[in-house]
Amino acid sequence: MEKWSLEQIADNVHRVEEAVAEACVKAGRRREEVTLVGVTKTVEAARVNAAIAAGLTHIGENYVQELLAKKPELHLDGVRLDLIGHLQTNKVKQVLSEVDVIQSVDSLKLAQTVSKVAANKGLTGRVLVEVNIGDEASKTGLPREQLTELLSQIAELPHICVEGLMCIPPILETEAARRKVFSEMYEMFLDIKGKKLDNIDMNTLSMGMSADFTEAILEGSTMVRVGTALFGHRVYPAK
Ligand SMILES: *Cc1c(COP(=O)(O)O)cnc(C)c1O
Repeated sequence: MEKWSLEQIADNVHRVEEAVAEACVKAGRRREEVTLVGVTKTVEAARVNAAIAAGLTHIGENYVQELLAKKPELHLDGVRLDLIGHLQTNKVKQVLSEVDVIQSVDSLKLAQTVSKVAANKGLTGRVLVEVNIGDEASKTGLPREQLTELLSQIAELPHICVEGLMCIPPILETEAARRKVFSEMYEMFLDIKGKKLDNIDMNTLSMGMSADFTEAILEGSTMVRVGTALFGHRVYPAK
């Protein structure tokens, strides 16, 4: 296991927090418009708790198994926990009431399952729709051409609410190319926000990671998901 210290994690949280604040100033936006989510895949609970102690208020986990195993050890009082990784329909039942928002809904089948499981539990499933903004065949996320149709189908489901959009853009060489992709997401976000569809309450645009969150904030992101800049390089367990 990598060496780490409470001070180092606290430093990282403060550094990233400052960079987010700076990006907001640069963008002419208020700091409260952007939420910092700490991405904690592969990060053990003690390190996550160190980040929470240093002020982190939002956590994102990728894998259902890891999330369920780690959650009892996390100091989540007042902290929001989201699922940000790809979700299989057969795991919705396990995870739905364990998280605040599922950020990775990318198909009608998954949305239907969320609504059904939520109905059984007597709640409303809060989700973001993940858009495959780079049109990459290898990536998860809904092709952007299908977004309007999916949202009109979700409007018919009784126990789900779409709170926004999420994306993991492709790796692009130039700042201009990256900002173009983020601005396209922002346009889609605004467009849907203006439509007033049932079960859609657009308030979150989740985009920007360690390497590009400043650019994402400049283009309208309301939620950045940062892992490496907070916790260092991830060490995946050997299989
Ligand atoms: C891992 C991950 C991140 C964080 O990536 P970093 O580059 O480490 O900041 C953000 N979002 C998703 C969906 C991820 O899987």
